[in-house]
Amino acid sequence: MEINQKTEVLKSAKDTWKECLNIIRENIPFIAYNTWFLPIKPYELENSTLKILVPNHFFIEWIEEHYKTIINKTIEQVLGEDGRLVYIVLEESEDNNTNTTDLEYDKPKELPTVNKQKQYVTFLNPRYTFDNFIKGEGNQLARAAAIAVAENPGQTSFNPLFIYGGVGLGKTHLMHAIGNKILEKFPDKRVIYISSDAFTVEFVESIQTDKVNEFSSFYKSMDVLIIDDIQFLVGKEKTLDLFFQIFNTLHQSGKQIVLSSDKAPKDLKGLNERLISRFSWGLTVDIQPPDFETRVAILKNKCAGYGFSLPNEYLEYIAHNITSNIRELEGCLIKLLAAASLSSKEIDFELVRKTVKEVSTNKQVSVSIDLITKTVCDFFKVDENKVREKNRRKEVVLARQIAMYLSKLLTKSSLKTIGLHFGGRDHSTVIHAFNCIEEMIKTDEKIKETVEFLKNKIEMSSN
Ligand code: ADP
Ligand code: MG
Repeated sequence: MEINQKTEVLKSAKDTWKECLNIIRENIPFIAYNTWFLPIKPYELENSTLKILVPNHFFIEWIEEHYKTIINKTIEQVLGEDGRLVYIVLEESEDNNTNTTDLEYDKPKELPTVNKQKQYVTFLNPRYTFDNFIKGEGNQLARAAAIAVAENPGQTSFNPLFIYGGVGLGKTHLMHAIGNKILEKFPDKRVIYISSDAFTVEFVESIQTDKVNEFSSFYKSMDVLIIDDIQFLVGKEKTLDLFFQIFNTLHQSGKQIVLSSDKAPKDLKGLNERLISRFSWGLTVDIQPPDFETRVAILKNKCAGYGFSLPNEYLEYIAHNITSNIRELEGCLIKLLAAASLSSKEIDFELVRKTVKEVSTNKQVSVSIDLITKTVCDFFKVDENKVREKNRRKEVVLARQIAMYLSKLLTKSSLKTIGLHFGGRDHSTVIHAFNCIEEMIKTDEKIKETVEFLKNKIEMSSN
């Protein structure tokens, strides 16, 4: 009965949203529609409130800022004067609402169910799969272990599977991928993904409503329990106690447990020894930041996901400057697509450069072409702009050529990317500069020393 009702609700939410999309599509540029509205899924229709699922907070901000009028009109047209739209973010935010803005949207505590046959919310985000998880050096082991667990939940020695690593490196993605894969392979298994925060909140609520037993037996009824960011459980003694019990029950009956954290178990200060030792029963794997090639591959993949393509040299530039966090890589891309979808303007290098700067929290960018240019220009007392312009003065040409030479030597940027940095010169100019300087180094001791000096200086200031 309850399930039937739910299907009813789902169906009309779907139709309503479809109606809305039809109107929106007519009123905004196609690319904007594609980027911002197609990824949205309807969730629920309650009276005249339509709840929709958006991939992340950035979507809400963007949509509210740019499409508010058309959305309001559409909702009124489809749902009447009392019509309301509520956004639900599919992806839990890393910063835990520290920057809650005065956006006009409600954020229900509950995240959506994805598995409709089940009578509980799996919290699994279907967007995160193994297919769209790019393999790289830093995540190879974690990915392999995750796949093994997903293929045979509870049957490998990877129980629990404990994944740890810095922010934005793909832990959450992998965990959802495990859950999604298991449900695909074994639709009858009871799988749940939950963040430690949500777990704690639910637990506290269960105490308040005198339902601790229900809470605990619910989790003990799972075949696969996936708990994200367990560093947030540290210090919450009661929650940890209960988690310990649930853990033991599941583990003893061969049920799969997957955990993640920002640190290795032994570094989770304040977590008691018995839990730490439990974690070491299974497999602990870390995720390291992706290397350059992986970053480019991830960007390409994300672009394709948005139905978009960007020139390689732009992707390389982004990958070159945003190095430590995949979420930032993605954020940068979304901003760019946003800018492109708003103005019908092509994405140019200036825009790419500006966006990277805005997004990157990594102030100390690894050796960047900008740093090289600045160091070389400082040394020769040449204005940086002159190096980018078509200035043919001797010392400007020399500074430009040395900067190009060092860019090729010290960065992984393509010739095209390097050329872009120097006022859009083409790759053959860069090769020419490189050859000239290489030749000079062989014949001119002073140039050799200068280049050596600059190289050391750049390498030192980038660490
Ligand atoms: P974490 O949980 O480690 O903080 P997430 O799993 O939330 O990081 O990843 C941040 C973003 O980067 C997500 O949008 C995720 O899809 C993406 N991402 C991370 N690693 C990869 C990868 N190897 N391939 C594709 N996307 C990735
Ligand atoms: Mg995460």
